[in-house]
Amino acid sequence: MGGMLWFMREAMQNERMAVRQRLSDAYRGHLLLTRERLVEGWRGHLAQMDRGEPSPGWFAQCVREGWAESVVCLSASGDPAYPAVGDGAAPAEERAELVKARALVRAGQTAAAVELLLKDNAPMEGSSGRSAAANAELYALELMGEGHPRFAEMAARLAKRVGDYAGASMPSAQRRFLAHELMRLAPGKVDDVLVQAEQLAAEFLETTPRLDVRPVLRATLLAAVWQTGSPGGRVLALYTTQGVSGRLETILRGQPAAEGIHVAIHPPDAALHDESSALVALPIGEALPGWTLALSLTEEGALQTAADRKTTAYLWTGILAVTAMGLIAVWLARAFGQQVQLAQLKNDLVATVSHELKTPLTSMRVLVDTLSESDHLDETTTREYLQLVAQENARLSRLIENVLTFSRLQRNKQTFDFAPIAPAAVAENALAAMHERCRQPGCVLETRIAPDLPAIRGDLDALVMVVINLLDNAWKYTGEDKQILLSAAARNGHVEFAVTDNGCGLSPRERGRIFERFYRVDQRLSRTTEGCGLGLSIVREIVAAHGGRVEVSSEVGCGSTFTVKIPALR
Ligand code: ADP
Repeated sequence: MGGMLWFMREAMQNERMAVRQRLSDAYRGHLLLTRERLVEGWRGHLAQMDRGEPSPGWFAQCVREGWAESVVCLSASGDPAYPAVGDGAAPAEERAELVKARALVRAGQTAAAVELLLKDNAPMEGSSGRSAAANAELYALELMGEGHPRFAEMAARLAKRVGDYAGASMPSAQRRFLAHELMRLAPGKVDDVLVQAEQLAAEFLETTPRLDVRPVLRATLLAAVWQTGSPGGRVLALYTTQGVSGRLETILRGQPAAEGIHVAIHPPDAALHDESSALVALPIGEALPGWTLALSLTEEGALQTAADRKTTAYLWTGILAVTAMGLIAVWLARAFGQQVQLAQLKNDLVATVSHELKTPLTSMRVLVDTLSESDHLDETTTREYLQLVAQENARLSRLIENVLTFSRLQRNKQTFDFAPIAPAAVAENALAAMHERCRQPGCVLETRIAPDLPAIRGDLDALVMVVINLLDNAWKYTGEDKQILLSAAARNGHVEFAVTDNGCGLSPRERGRIFERFYRVDQRLSRTTEGCGLGLSIVREIVAAHGGRVEVSSEVGCGSTFTVKIPALR
């Protein structure tokens, strides 16, 4: 049984692993194809950034399109064109109005200074001209304060200038400065995304002395920021970790998806941890070193279901085999037990019955021999001997009757002829059978049959046999002075036949065993009382067949009472 369970467990585990292996083989091909498309998609994604000229306008477009968190547009020589390192270093030319306004402020004429700056002055051409105008506008904003009626107008003008990447734009350092100032004075006016892109590019350029423009995604010195050159080498794109994952996932979403699986992208450090739970994992490749593509089943139980189907088959086979083995074992044990019991029964029966048969047969032979061998037959002696022979004969008949009934009961061959009967008839028939023996001197057999007893449903002969057995025992297990009482009374819906004697009585232990077949309190072969220990077991079985029960109350040395209770008919 243990071996069987071990085998089942092993089989289940192997099956799980086999199913997992089969599935991962099947999905590896799918993942390879997905990877190919992903690499192609990523290349295409980067290639679109090669289409523009290296200018502030192109920087703004790349960021606005969401192609990268930030970019550095590169010149033909591979140097940063926009944003450029230290491009705010050159001091911007100051406008005449600004110089004049500062003088007015110094003279305490702030309002006049604002008026001056508010006039839409003739635009100054060129990058430095624009920068100068922006500086003047910022100064105006600072002087005006939020309460000024034209503050919003001025803020919008400056925001437009900061967000204007067309043509010869202002240097990125100044743009960042102006944007920050503007965010402080008039929040919400500038485009956050562009400001952050400018900031990121600036930090990157500051921390990266030599640019690597190969189209390979690598970590920068900034935390969780990645860089990669575009395939044409015209742009260096900057991404956050989520940014890379997000864009790769977008590419994946555009591909035909298979049901029931999920493909995830893992950055280098997360890959090891997550690979273990994935069914198949592959490195994405040269363009994204260390990044992995992992395929797992969407439903946790999908793999389980496949394995479980096989496992269930094993389990059922195992259960069936174990149950069959168990059933066979039980059947064998029962059959064997029955054989042993039968053999035991036969032995007991043969031993007991032959012993019991011997006594009456011997006495009859001796009596008959004595009579036949005597020359002169005295009438009184002859009559006496013949009576003894008759007694032995009756004893033999009772014994054989009991053995036959017992044998029929054991083989379930005993048929009962149930009919409504009067309890008095049972008592009278039994008394008639005992009459001869109870006429002996020293034996008093009293009967107390209550009048108007309710009828019972039963087999008359069988019930008579029950009462005879009880009376017979009462006669056998009392001494010289035999006081026997047979009573019949109605009580609690039953008719109770009770046989009381003044015999040797029974101890509590004996009372518990006397209904077992072949059990005799005195087991010695030399015992004086006849019997083979079948009487009470027959009594119990017949009474049970009548839906009644038999009870005994007794005390050693004080006699016993056996009571048979049979349900009364309504
Ligand atoms: P047996 O043929 O030996 O009488 P029974 O089954 O009738 O077989 O009785 C089993 C045993 O119960 C008897 O051997 C006897 O020891 C005990 N027994 C039965 N009836 C009485 C009784 N009235 N008084 C004392 N002992 C009894």
